[in-house]
Parts: sequence; structure tokens; C-alpha cells
Amino acid sequence: QLHNQVQDLKGTIRVYCRVRPFLSRQSNVQSTVDYIGENGNIMIVNPQKQGKEARRVFTFNKVFGTNVTQQQIYADTQPLIRSVLDGYIVCIFAYGQTGSGKTYTMSGPDLTTKESWGVNYRSLQDLFSISKERMDAIEYEVGVQMIEIYNEQVRDLLVIDGTNRRLDIRNNSQLNGLNVPDASLVPVKCTQDVLELMKLGQSNRAVGATALNERSSRSHSILTVHVQGKDLVSGSTLKGCLHLVDLAGSERVDKSEAVGERLKEAQHINRSLSALGDVISALAQKSSHVPYRNSKLTQVLQDSLGGHAKTLMFVHINPEVNAVGETISTLKFAERVA
Ligand code: ADP
Ligand code: MG
Repeated sequence: QLHNQVQDLKGTIRVYCRVRPFLSRQSNVQSTVDYIGENGNIMIVNPQKQGKEARRVFTFNKVFGTNVTQQQIYADTQPLIRSVLDGYIVCIFAYGQTGSGKTYTMSGPDLTTKESWGVNYRSLQDLFSISKERMDAIEYEVGVQMIEIYNEQVRDLLVIDGTNRRLDIRNNSQLNGLNVPDASLVPVKCTQDVLELMKLGQSNRAVGATALNERSSRSHSILTVHVQGKDLVSGSTLKGCLHLVDLAGSERVDKSEAVGERLKEAQHINRSLSALGDVISALAQKSSHVPYRNSKLTQVLQDSLGGHAKTLMFVHINPEVNAVGETISTLKFAERVA
């Protein structure tokens, strides 16, 4: 019995690794991924090193190779999504250097073809279809919030007039799961509603930025889906919550090169990603002190990390040889939280 409980707790943090395919059609390009084994093993070869140091094996809950489809990725995520409708809080993070495939996993490359849809849209579609199946027993209401954290400032992405609305972090027992009660909460009835909102959110991310892509890789975006279910027989209610987090690029910026605004951004990103790593690894180790206060990201999600919440971290790697340094530091980060 006790053994089972421990197993369950251990199971609340999962790490999946996904390898991005090569983008050009060249053949014979060297990959730093030597092999992907069963049981979640991946071996990285570092051509810059010799002997024993040149190879290293990392182990995660799952490793997905370059040929794995969006649908296969979702198949291994789905059980978590379904638990949101049973009243769980679920956090899904996409971590990795810029260009490693975070947005591909979360949103997908192209909204017009369903096959390419990422975890976000598939999750929402699933939430709506399951709630429909349960319609005779439970009445569900779904609402969405979308925020961005840039330079340790929290902004509402669901504003209609494009204003730069800064948000304060506060606890709010009504809206469990995201500690920014003033972020617009928009009721949604179907996946299409959410698609529209995500387009709005994306366009708001571009405000004041030189290029959308540039900005989005320097900030964290959080899409939060709140679900409230009312049992039609007993009248009791349950609340579940899903956070879909596309993190800022994890690449280290060369301090000798970055100056001014760029250096400040890089410092904020490094600090918040390591704060996230510290929180998740403290939780994984059942540490009595969990350092939530060290970044806005961990403060905003404080109620959703730990306790009965479930966390899934997708770590992304780019198999190109010139990315090997970032690949290894990404996998070390992931190993620490696994
Ligand atoms: P990130 O969000 O981490 O900066 P992107 O998701 O934007 O990275 O991916 C960078 C590029 O690689 C994009 O052109 C994207 O379409 C492509 N890409 C990423 N992952 C995959 C994948 N699994 N299969 C095919 N193309 C991918
Ligand atoms: Mg991205």
C-alpha cells in the first residue's frame, strides 16, 4: 500500500525528451544523437570530446525520435489531460533552446492542418469531447486565460484593444491554479473559440517587439484552461486546471557579447528557468523547502506545482553538431528534474 503511494507520488513529475529532425534535406549530416534506446534512454555523442567523455547516456520517462508524429506525442499526453476533467491540476512545459521545437510540440507548425496540431489544440479538443460524453452526468464550464512573462513582468495576452496590461501576482482562492486573478478569463464552448483566442494572444505578444519570433523566444507564455464541473445528481462541484507553458529559449547567452536590453533579458530568462528547475527538483526529492519565490514564473504557478498537481516537462533537443553544448545542458537540466 505504502509502496504504491510512493510510486504514485513519484509519478507526478514526468519528463519526455523530443528530438527535432534536421531541417534541411542534406543526407549524411552528422547527428549528436547516437541512439534512442527502449526504456527512455538516449545517447549523445559529442564530437568535440574524446574517449569516455565523448558519449553520455541520459534516461527519461520517454524519448521521442525524429520520426514521431504529433499524434503519437499526444497519445502519451492524453491521460494527463483527461485527469483535468476529474479535478486535477496539470502543468505541461516545453523546454529547450530556441529552434529546438518547443512551439512545434505545443502549438504545431500550422493551424490549418489538423495532423500538425500540437498538444494545445489536441488537449482542448479532447476536453470538449469528453465533457460532451459526460453531459448527462456532469455539466462542465470551461474558461481560458493567457499570459506572458517577459523580463519578469506578467502581461495579459487576452486584451482586445492591444493595450499592454501588466498584471500583479496575487493568490485567489476562486481561481485556483494561476496566481494572476486579474488576467482576462474568457468562457469558451468549443475548440474554435480557443483557436480564436490563441490567435489574439499571439498577436498581442508581438506588441512592441521587433519581430514576433524574436520576442516569443525571449518570453514564457502560459495558456491556462480552467474547468469547472457540476454533478447534476448530487450538485457537488469539482475544479480542474491545465497549464500549457511554452518557455523562453534556454540557450546561454555569451556575456561578452550580449549588452544592454539583450543581456537583461538573458539574465531574467536564466534566472527563471533555473528557479523552475529548483522548484521541480525540490518537489521530486520531496524536499521540505520548495523555493517558489525566486521567479515570477514559479510564483504564478505556485499552486499548480506540487501538492496533487501533475507535471509533464517536454525537453527538446536539436541534433545538429553545433548545438551539442546546449543539448547537453538541456539534458542535464532535465535529468535534475526527472
Ligand atoms: P522553438 O519554439 O523551440 O524555438 P520551433 O518549434 O519554432 O522551435 O521549431 C523550429 C523549427 O523547426 C520550425 O521551423 C519548426 O517547424 C521545425 N520543427 C520543430 N520540431 C519539428 C518536428 N518535430 N518535426 C518537423 N519540424 C520541426
Ligand atoms: Mg517557440
